Amino acid sequence: MAATHVSSGVSTGKTVYIPYISDHSLMMQAVLEHLGVRAEALPPPDDVSAKIGLDLVLGKECAPCLITVGDMIRRAKAPDFDPSRAVMLMPTAPGPCRFGQYAVLQRRLLDEHGLAEVELASPTSGNSYQGLGDHPLRLRKLAWDGAVALDLLQQLLHRFRPYERDKGAADALYAAGLQRILNAVRAGGGKPLQQALARCGDQFAALPLTGQAPKPLIGLVGEIYVRFNAYTNQDIIRRIEELGGEVMLASMMEWLYLTTYNPGYYAKRKGRYTTYVVMRLTETYQRYREHALTRSVAHLLRHAYERPTGELVALVRPYLAPEIQTEAVLTLAKAIELAHLGASGILAVMPFSCMPGLVTAAIAPRVRADLDNIPWLDLSFDLQKATNIQTRLEAFIYQAQYFQRRRA
Ligand code: SF4
Repeated sequence: MAATHVSSGVSTGKTVYIPYISDHSLMMQAVLEHLGVRAEALPPPDDVSAKIGLDLVLGKECAPCLITVGDMIRRAKAPDFDPSRAVMLMPTAPGPCRFGQYAVLQRRLLDEHGLAEVELASPTSGNSYQGLGDHPLRLRKLAWDGAVALDLLQQLLHRFRPYERDKGAADALYAAGLQRILNAVRAGGGKPLQQALARCGDQFAALPLTGQAPKPLIGLVGEIYVRFNAYTNQDIIRRIEELGGEVMLASMMEWLYLTTYNPGYYAKRKGRYTTYVVMRLTETYQRYREHALTRSVAHLLRHAYERPTGELVALVRPYLAPEIQTEAVLTLAKAIELAHLGASGILAVMPFSCMPGLVTAAIAPRVRADLDNIPWLDLSFDLQKATNIQTRLEAFIYQAQYFQRRRA
């Protein structure tokens, strides 16, 4: 088996293929293009990707793993694909759940399909994704700005779409804003990116609305791929909106902040103070850039600024030791934060048999009890297109509407 490694080959004339999780993947493509690297975000997954993935695995793997490998193999079988000039991007993690094994399994499957020449680049959250490409610092800085901008654009969409007067108008603004942001990232970010975001804010602020009363806020938390990927989560955000809710989505930034916070936290515990200081400075820089980008749209959003990770983690300590890491910590912490910010319901999503998702579901009743019994729904997705999701969502939104009235 070829070794999985962090590649610097992204600048050696190869094309980097980025599996699609959300439009953040398009942003990553724009970042690489700015650095002179050929890059291609793979199309959003569909039934074909899922079938390819399902046919390759045993069935006990995590859904994001098999979908992304389905996307990879599908692209690799296209006539214009040159394995010797291809790099597949698949971030990894040092544990403790199965995410750290995605790249290992995918390497093996690529090899078995005659694609041993395809490079697999796996930057790790264990060191805050350092070391990718020949300009790793520039890449991370620009990718951070792009991720913040995309998070904010998505927040604008979710804030305004439930109240739009003309169906499709908010989606059209989002699509135009996305192109504006991608162009600005491709040009190197900075002031043009701030201006692009401010323009998005102006346009959403001018969107004709129905004048309806505020709908119940639904905090959407949980495993990051399912949370963001509309195919895997069966378009959960639109379904909530159609049933009368407004979504507050846990951001991509939240995860990226954690991948800075954790290495610093553990470095300090082990007495590696240089690493600790570097991570703290990194977080300070990230926060500074987040504020610079958010300023122009903050007044339009329900929760404009990300809460510092240390504070988030502290919220969860009464229920579980954050040192177990995994997304369970963030999921529970964000649920608590969103409830404090006015959510009338918490929807926690996970792939079928997700380890952190199951931990979250086990602890959720205690958290709920301390949050005035806020309606809480755990939904697990297994790519079988479960038919009872709609009924469960309808009951959940009904409960959230009741909770909203009771609290008012
Ligand atoms: S978070 Fe859940 S779905 Fe993702 S790799 Fe870990 S166990 Fe699998």
